[in-house]
Parts: sequence; structure tokens; C-alpha cells
Amino acid sequence: MKEWRIFERLVALLTSDEYYDSFTVIPNARIKGHISQRKRQIDVLVDYRYNTDLSKRIIIDAKNRSRPVDIKEVEAFEGLMKDVGAQRGFIVCSNGYTKAAGRRAQDHIGIRLISPEQIEYFDLNSWDKCRNLSCIDGLVLWDATPGIIVEGTVVVQSTGKCDECGKFHVWCWGCGNRNALGKEDEWQCACKGPWFWLTSIEPEGQQNEEQREGNYLILVMGNGTYEIIDRRPM
Ligand SMILES: [Zn+2]
Ligand SMILES: [Zn+2]
Repeated sequence: MKEWRIFERLVALLTSDEYYDSFTVIPNARIKGHISQRKRQIDVLVDYRYNTDLSKRIIIDAKNRSRPVDIKEVEAFEGLMKDVGAQRGFIVCSNGYTKAAGRRAQDHIGIRLISPEQIEYFDLNSWDKCRNLSCIDGLVLWDATPGIIVEGTVVVQSTGKCDECGKFHVWCWGCGNRNALGKEDEWQCACKGPWFWLTSIEPEGQQNEEQREGNYLILVMGNGTYEIIDRRPM
């Protein structure tokens, strides 16, 4: 695997250690910029997990370079933040940054360093291969472990997203089944319990006179109740 890809995945993992519960961490996200009107690639996107409020949107750029990050890169990153409506951003780099870049970053852009040792000892073996058969190199970042309570017992599930195709993944710890779900899909694991998983595309209100949509991962219980477990903006 290419080193920059390992670096991006390390940054995604460190981000998911820091942001959880009400936050979703989306590795290698692609969302439409409302200024550029184009799909923008974002190394790591942090958004609210359950609602469409953009006030806490954070984007992270992983720069695995042999030279320090410079002022131009900070400015380009600030442009990306504006385009996708991020209030805060972090540049994570492996070889430091120039003084001017540090000053230019000001308060709303953080610059963080990752040491070569952290990269060297980062173990990707704990990451699962994407279950989508047409996805070649994708790995799943598991970033939530919701529990389902059935007759007083908890059946733990892990949920996450592939960092190539973006598909939601569900892993049932009860039966061991793992599956990738399409954008509008449903799935029940081998437990055949009183629940199933559903994905859907939902409107997320307007941003600059433009309709936004999100993809939702929903847990549906046999009694008809449901819970949003994850979302990713589209
Ligand atoms: Zn995939
Ligand atoms: Zn199961």
C-alpha cells in the first residue's frame, strides 16, 4: 500500500479516537462544494452524526510530504473549507510547516504533526476490507458500536464507512455477519432478530439556495421504532 494512503488512514483513525458519539468520521469523503459546484475530495470529514447542522463541520487534510507545509497550501485549504462550509480545519503533516504557514493558519486552522514512528507502528491489519465486491482497495473505518437490546440482552453492532466507495458497513457481533449496504438498501443478519438495517437518501434542507441530500443508516426495530445510526452528506 502506498505510504500516503497509510498516512491518510492513520489520520482518519486518530480523528475517530477524538470525535465520536454525536460525531461521524468520514474517511476520504466526496461532497459538493457550494461555491465551486464541484465534488471535492476531503481526506477526513467530521460532521454531526444525526442532524444536518453544519456549525460543527470539520475537515482534515493529511499532508504526508518530504518538505514543510507552506503558506500556499494553508490558503488552498482555507478555500476548500469555505467551499464545503467547514468552520474548522486541521492540516496534519509529517514534516513540519513554515513560520508563515503557521501565522497564516490563525485560529480556525490547526496544524498538527505526526511523527514517523507513529506511521511506522500504525497497524492496518485491524481494518476490514470493504465488503462491496466492486470496490478494490477500500478499507472500513468502524466508528460506532451501537447496541441492540433484545429481551434484556445486548447485541453489539459495529458500523462504519468504506474509505473508497463510501458504503455504510454493519458488523453484527451476535452472528459475526458483516455487510456493505448500498445507498438505498436493507439488510438483516443471520441472528434473524427483531431488527433490520435500512439505508436511505434524505433531503437535508437548503444551503445557498441549493437542495442538499444525505445518506442515512437506520436501525429499524420489529416494533416499528427506528433510530438514525449514521449519516454522510452527499
Ligand atoms: Zn468500498
Ligand atoms: Zn447477527
